[in-house]
Amino acid sequence: MRSGQPGAAPGGIVNALTVDVEHYFQVSAMAPYIARSAWDTIECRVENNVERLLARFAANEAHATFFTLGWIAERYPAMIRRIVAAGHELASHGYGHQRATDLSRAEFEDDITRAKSILEDVGGVAVRGYRAPSFSIDKRNLWAFDSLRDAGYAYSSSVYPVHHDHYGMPDAPRFPYHPRGGSVLEIPVSTLRVGGRNLPIGGGGYFRLLPYAVSRRAIERLHRSERRPAVFYLHPWEIDPGQRRIEGIGAKSRFRHYVNLSRTEPRLQRLLDDFRWDTIRAVFDLALGHERLAA
Ligand SMILES: [Zn+2]
Repeated sequence: MRSGQPGAAPGGIVNALTVDVEHYFQVSAMAPYIARSAWDTIECRVENNVERLLARFAANEAHATFFTLGWIAERYPAMIRRIVAAGHELASHGYGHQRATDLSRAEFEDDITRAKSILEDVGGVAVRGYRAPSFSIDKRNLWAFDSLRDAGYAYSSSVYPVHHDHYGMPDAPRFPYHPRGGSVLEIPVSTLRVGGRNLPIGGGGYFRLLPYAVSRRAIERLHRSERRPAVFYLHPWEIDPGQRRIEGIGAKSRFRHYVNLSRTEPRLQRLLDDFRWDTIRAVFDLALGHERLAA
């Protein structure tokens, strides 16, 4: 049986923990039901949820990369400064949570530039990382990597190499690489190769749906068989079972969004206890700072 904190043993692989900072009603599945013009009228729960995440991370001496919307940073600057002051990495999730695949190239460039500038002003730190809303970079818009480079980003975590009805590029590399041979490093959320397919093991609905032991074993296997750190993501709203239920969304989206919300926080705690976690910049510093990885 397990000895308590096996992942935290000396020499254990340090994994990358990431948080996509947005309101629960800003996720893509809610977009048709909540007008953007109404965003400012809905009760804010993100500050309290982020506060709880910061407390748990601090208790475990874990650090994370917070991919944050520019829209959020404009409205909750004190929260952004708390994230930075606690030693976490501030990164960009774009401005207003529009899928990159829904934007023209000019619109995408405006979005990522505006978000970076707001985050840097509010946080007082350089922002080098970007994650597209809903992992919306795929084979249709690979030019996005050129735009990210031109906007001053050093890395992205936006291409999910899985099959999914809303996103994904199942034949994309599973580990960090330089798309189109450019300077931006793409750092995919973790998958496990099983039966010729990539299974998502890096968070989201699967983490809430399946028993915790499935996630733990998957990360252990990534460490043991491939000697790679996990890249894991979650959202502040995933630890908030008290969030308002949005009327009208379809059954599949409803299930994905609301399944096991009450179980996420205790599961997250186990993840923090069982493994070591740090920011993307710390975990992949070598690749970002000193050498380009082969694609
Ligand atoms: Zn998002």
